Amino acid sequence: MAKRLYIETVGCQMNMLDSELVVASLRKAGYEVVDKPAKADTILFNTCSVRQHAEDKIYSALGRLKHAKQHNPDKIIGVLGCMAQKDQRLIFERAPFVDLVVGPGQLHQVPELLEKVAAGEGQQLEVSLDRKAGTRAEIEESFESYDPLRDPQMRPTPYQAFVRIMIGCDKFCTYCIVPSVRGPEQSRPPEHIEAEARQLAAEGCREITLLGQTVNSYKHGANGHTTRLSDLLCRLHDIEGIARLKFVTNFPKDMTDDLLEAVRDLPKCSPYLHVPAQSGPNDVLARMKRGYTVEEYREMLARIYATVPGAAVTSDFIVGFCGETDEDFEATAQLVRESRFKNSFIFKYSERPGTKGASLYADDIPEDVKRRRNNELLAIQNEISEADNQPFVGREVEVLVEGPSKASQKHGDDGPVLQLVGRTHCDRIVVFTGNRRQIGQLLPITIVEANAFTLFGSVVTQHAGPEVYSLG
Ligand code: SAM
Ligand code: SF4
Repeated sequence: MAKRLYIETVGCQMNMLDSELVVASLRKAGYEVVDKPAKADTILFNTCSVRQHAEDKIYSALGRLKHAKQHNPDKIIGVLGCMAQKDQRLIFERAPFVDLVVGPGQLHQVPELLEKVAAGEGQQLEVSLDRKAGTRAEIEESFESYDPLRDPQMRPTPYQAFVRIMIGCDKFCTYCIVPSVRGPEQSRPPEHIEAEARQLAAEGCREITLLGQTVNSYKHGANGHTTRLSDLLCRLHDIEGIARLKFVTNFPKDMTDDLLEAVRDLPKCSPYLHVPAQSGPNDVLARMKRGYTVEEYREMLARIYATVPGAAVTSDFIVGFCGETDEDFEATAQLVRESRFKNSFIFKYSERPGTKGASLYADDIPEDVKRRRNNELLAIQNEISEADNQPFVGREVEVLVEGPSKASQKHGDDGPVLQLVGRTHCDRIVVFTGNRRQIGQLLPITIVEANAFTLFGSVVTQHAGPEVYSLG
C-alpha cells in the first residue's frame, strides 16, 4: 500500500520550491500526498525562521501532534528547512516525538532518512555546517543545491514554475537569519538552469520565476567567461513556449544598468521588480548593514523608472528595528509616499538569536509601537496602490490565467463558467468571469473596476460577424 504523506510549508517561494522537490522524490519512492495530517502516516513541516512567529506556529503544530504520535507510534514526524538548520537538536529537546530534522541543504536525503526511521534506526538529524565551522569550500559543499526532480502537481499552477538560480546569501543584514540557515551565496551553472527551463516549457509551463535571495547578484564564471542575470535572461528568452520571465528578490546595490536594459528590451521579461528598501533613515539602514543610503536607493529607483517606464516596483519594510525613533519612522513613511511602490510587504522587527542585530542592539521598540507603525505604513501603501490601480479602469491588459479565484474555490464552483484569477505582465492580480478552458492562456481583459489589491475585468470579445456599414 502507498505510504501517505502530508506536507505543510511555511515561508517564502524558496520553501515552496523545496517542498515541490521533496514531494517529487517521495512520490518516486511510492508515497501519495494527502490533504490532512490525520490521514497521513508521514507528516513533514517545511519551516521558516525569518521571524519568531513562523517558528512559534511550527512548535504549536508539533505540540498538537504529540497525542497522535502516542496513539500511533509508527507515524513519522519530520521538521525540514530553515528552522531545522537553526534549532537542530533543540527540536528533539522541545518535541521528543519528532523523528527527523533535516536542513535545507540536505533535503535530497529525506527519502533515505525516512527509511532509516521506519527501520527503527531512531531519530535522524542532517544539517549543514555552521558558517564558521570550516573553510568556505567545505561550508559551500555542505549546503548542496537540490534541483533535479520536479513535481508539476506541487506547483502554484501547471503554467507557472519557480527555478532556483542561486542558493544562500552573503549580505549579512544584521536582522536576518537567512545567511546562517541557507549558507553561502552560490550561483548555479547557466546550462543547468536553461535545461530545467526547457523541460518546464516542454511540460506546458508559460511563466518562470527565477529565485535567489539576492537574485540580481547572480554571477557564474566558467572558462574565463562570466554570466550575469541579464545574460541568463537573454538565454532563457529564446525558449519556445515560455511567455513570461520574472525574478525575485533584488538587492538595491546590485540593480545594474545591463539588467534594467534587459528588462526593457526583452519582451518576455515582466516589467516587475521586487527591490526591498527595508527602511528610510540612513542611520537605521546603517545599523541594518544594508550597504546603501536612502539617496542611493532613490537614485536606483529613478534609474528603474527612467529605463523601464511603467515598471511595477515592490518593496519590503521592517518597522520597529532597534532604536527606530518617531522621526526615523516618518522618514520611512516619506520614502513609501514618494516611491509609489505597486505594493509593499511590511514586517514588525523580530529579533533573531545568532544574528549581529541581536548581539549588537537592544530590541527596544515596544510591541504596540511596532504594531501601530506597521498599520500606519500599510495604510499609506494601500492608498497609493489603490490610486495607481485606478488608471487601469477602461484599459485592456494581457492576463496569464492561473485558475479559479479563491471565491470560486470556496463556493466549490465546478461548472464550466466561473470566476478566474490571473496576473498582468506587471504582476497585478486580475479577477474576471471566464471559462475553465481559458486556464493557462494569455487573454486580453478589459478592466472595469479596481481596488488596492485587485483589478476586476471582463474578457475582450472580438467582433467576428459581418461588417455593418452605415449608409447615411
Ligand atoms: N533576500 C530577500 C531580501 O533581501 O529582501 C528576502 C529575505 S527575507 C526571507 C524576506 C523579508 O523578510 C525581508 O526583506 C525583510 O523585510 C523581512 N525580514 C527578514 N528578517 C526579519 C526580521 N528579523 N524581522 C522582521 N522581518 C524580517
Ligand atoms: Fe537576509 Fe539581507 Fe540576505 Fe536578504 S540580503 S536574505 S535580508 S541577509
